[in-house]
Amino acid sequence: MSKHIFVTGGVVSSLGKGLTSASIGMLLEQRGLSVRMQKLDPYINVDPGTMSPYQHGEVYVLDDGSETDLDLGHYERFTNSPLNRDSNYTTGQIYQSVINKERRGEYLGQTVQVIPHITNEIKAALAKPAGEDVDVVITEIGGTVGDIESQPFLEAIRQFSLDVGKQNCLYIHLTLVPYLKAAAELKTKPTQHSVGRLREIGVQPDILICRTERSLTHEECAKIALFCNVPVEAVIEEKDKDFSVYEVPISLVEHGLDELIVRKLNLSAGDLDLENWRDLLHRLRNPEYEISIAVVGKYAEHRDAYKSIYEALDHAGVAHRAQIRIQRVHSEAVEREGAERLLAGIDGLLVPGGFGERGIEGKVEAIRFARERGIPYLGICLGMQCAVIEFGRNVVGLAGANSTEFDKDNPHPVICLLDEQKTITDKGGTMRLGAQPARLALGSKAARCYQAEEISERHRHRYEFNNAYRQQYGANGMQVTGTSPDGLLVEVVEIPDHPWFVAVQFHPEFKSQPTAPQPLFAGFIGAAVTRHSARTERPHEVETQ
Ligand code: GLN
Repeated sequence: MSKHIFVTGGVVSSLGKGLTSASIGMLLEQRGLSVRMQKLDPYINVDPGTMSPYQHGEVYVLDDGSETDLDLGHYERFTNSPLNRDSNYTTGQIYQSVINKERRGEYLGQTVQVIPHITNEIKAALAKPAGEDVDVVITEIGGTVGDIESQPFLEAIRQFSLDVGKQNCLYIHLTLVPYLKAAAELKTKPTQHSVGRLREIGVQPDILICRTERSLTHEECAKIALFCNVPVEAVIEEKDKDFSVYEVPISLVEHGLDELIVRKLNLSAGDLDLENWRDLLHRLRNPEYEISIAVVGKYAEHRDAYKSIYEALDHAGVAHRAQIRIQRVHSEAVEREGAERLLAGIDGLLVPGGFGERGIEGKVEAIRFARERGIPYLGICLGMQCAVIEFGRNVVGLAGANSTEFDKDNPHPVICLLDEQKTITDKGGTMRLGAQPARLALGSKAARCYQAEEISERHRHRYEFNNAYRQQYGANGMQVTGTSPDGLLVEVVEIPDHPWFVAVQFHPEFKSQPTAPQPLFAGFIGAAVTRHSARTERPHEVETQ
């Protein structure tokens, strides 16, 4: 029978519950346990697919096409837990399911209420990832204790332990212990209040993880323990990490968290093996090169909007012993100030995915700059579409070429809507989504990166390369080097005469892990390091694709 860990958060939002949950998952996996990760989000949207990146950061896409919360990205980067649509539930989904059942008459005349109908639905969701081959399910509850929206979820995790047995459940509460400069003290009161709110609804946390900027003294831990009714060894410090998020698991081990969980849940776990992880941190700390990669997008100022892309760049940097200086460049700033001014001195350019017309011309301009100067370019989804637009206008001679997403009546619709998309009006969950196979051309840069000709990558888009222009592009130097297996949908374009210019319709960033960089990102960073070394006359020994 699977055991369940519930991770809640208190005091403030943005405490890094996702990272902490992912770190716990990783530590348990490294002790030989089989883990499943899950996130429950209290908002009413059915999924984050329709939310602005300003509100919610990136939308993380799974193999099965689910559009999910970005914390699931942490889960996939830190663990090997397979994720699917049962890995992320929202209040919207829970209510939608209950209302559908009510309409079908499944409640047999009952009054449908939050308790028990909504809470039963949540409990069914909690049980979904469990199974014979699963030792531990880790469920992170979004939001902060005390929020109105979180209440049904907290009530459900309380009831859950009555159903499956207290010995099979563990409640971990993440809180903030702020440092007050004026008093020169760490303050434990917010944590006491937050745990108080949890206990009011019947959840007594077993372990407290205290986010703090300064180390907690034994006295401070003892005080928190006494007021919050936990043993002192269950007060775990999680100090801010200014170097890398990948330090979090190591610091939790140093405070005994994995051992505590194993003991409290009576798990039969092996010894901890962190060799790969320590090696990763060593490489991160000791780079041989420092290279500059510009990411040009319309959410440049928003840290979370391109989360997986920034992470994937770092992972590829580790593989090449390069520290990546990411320049977040606003695409509208390129329109105002010009690419020369903003992008001088970069070693590589990446244009990520996106929607809507704003900032498009800045992206096209940045790509022109990289293409003409021989700067390595990786285009992702909209970044591929913009590369096609740029090449059409400036090389093929298709004046005014554009995507019909931005200009319906343009003279050269080089990017246009998929036929199956033409009749769709609903915005939620209706794009081409999830893992799809693609075939790569033998000898192409992409095939050399993957060292394979058959690949599978995740998608999230409506528009496509217009096949009517394929031949003209090829004749002018932009080759289609990857397609869907039937050859109809263009997945990858390359410019063979350029040092490294690869643009893809899919999202490779979702499958990168710190110890297993995604092949295209590795190839791109390899090319950027080569360019950097040539400019600084330092040989680059790592072989690049
Ligand atoms: N807006 C483009 C489309 O829908 C690109 C989407 C993306 O970059 N994810 O096809």
